[in-house]
Amino acid sequence: MKKLLPTSTVGSLPKPDWLATPEKLWSPWKLEGEKLLEGKKDALRVSLQEQQLAGLDIICDGEQTRQHFVTTFIEHLSGVDFKNRKTVKIRDRYDASVPVVVGEISRKKSVFVDDAKFLRKQTNKPIKWALPGPMTMVDTLYDNYYKSREILAWEFAKALNEEARELQDAGVDIIQFDEPAFNVFFEEVNDWGMAAMERAIEGLNCETAVHICYGYGIKANNDWKKTLGSEWRQYEEIFPKIQKSNIDIVSLECHNSHVPFNLLELIRGKKVMVGAIDVATNIIETPEEVADTIRKALEFVDIENLYPCTNCGMAPLSRNVAKGKLNALSKGAEIIRKELGI
Ligand SMILES: [Zn+2]
Repeated sequence: MKKLLPTSTVGSLPKPDWLATPEKLWSPWKLEGEKLLEGKKDALRVSLQEQQLAGLDIICDGEQTRQHFVTTFIEHLSGVDFKNRKTVKIRDRYDASVPVVVGEISRKKSVFVDDAKFLRKQTNKPIKWALPGPMTMVDTLYDNYYKSREILAWEFAKALNEEARELQDAGVDIIQFDEPAFNVFFEEVNDWGMAAMERAIEGLNCETAVHICYGYGIKANNDWKKTLGSEWRQYEEIFPKIQKSNIDIVSLECHNSHVPFNLLELIRGKKVMVGAIDVATNIIETPEEVADTIRKALEFVDIENLYPCTNCGMAPLSRNVAKGKLNALSKGAEIIRKELGI
C-alpha cells in the first residue's frame, strides 16, 4: 500500500431499505429473482459510492450481496442440509437455528467471484473481500457427517481456498477471513484452527488478512463482553501462533474495547487493521477519538503496517450512523497524517 494509514471497514455495511430490512442480522431479501440480482448490484454501487465519498482507501463490497457473513458461503456448498436445521449455541454464547452437514463438503461453483469482478470494474482503488474463516464456519452449523471439528474445518479450508484463488484472479487485492471464533476457542486455534487458515490461503499471491473480534454489536455479544472483566487478554492466547503464520494482516477490535494495546507487540511485523470505530454503539466517534486510537496503536505497530479500520462489520447499524462513522475514520487518519507531516 503506497498511502500511509490506508483506511477501510471490516466488511459489512448496512443494506438499503429497498433491498433488505435494515438494522437486522439474517434480514430477508425484499426482492426476488432477476430483480434481486439487479438490486444487489445496485446496492454494491451505492456502497462503493458511500465508501469513496467518505474517503476510504481500501474498498469492500459492504457485503451487499450476502445475507450473512457465514451462512451465505455455506449455502453454496454441497453436503449441507439447509431445510432440516438444528439449534446450536454459537461461540458458546447464543442459540441459532443452523444448517446440518449431511455429506461430503464440496464447492460446486464460485460464490462471490462474479460480484468481485463487478466491483473490480467500478473502482481503481484496492479492494478487500471477506470470507468466513474455517473455524467460524464449523461453529455456525451442526455436523452430522464428519463428527470432527478439525476434519470439517479442513474440508471448509479447501473450499475457501478454491474461492480465494478465483477472487484473487478477479482482481481482489486483499482476501480476509473472518474468525471471531478465534477469540473463544484458543486451544483449538493453536491445535488446528491456524493450520486450517494456512490451508485456506495456500498458494495465494494477494495479501491475506484474518479478522478477530468480539462480534457484532448485538445483545448476546454485548452481554458476553460484560463478563470479560476490565482487561481483555484473549488475543494474547493466539497472537504467538498468528505471528508465526503466513497471514499478512491481522484485523482487530481496539476502540472502546478493553484490549491492552501492548498485546500488539506480540504480532510486531504483521500489518494490523486497528479497529478505531466501535460498531456496538450508535454514538459516532469524533475524528479526534479515532486519531487517539491510532496514536496508541502506533506505539506498537510501525506506521507502514498500520491500517485504520472498524472494530467489526457495520451491517446491524443504521445507514446514517454508518456513514458518520466512515467519515470519522477517514478524518481521524488524516489528523495523524498531518501530525506526522505525511
Ligand atoms: Zn467482527
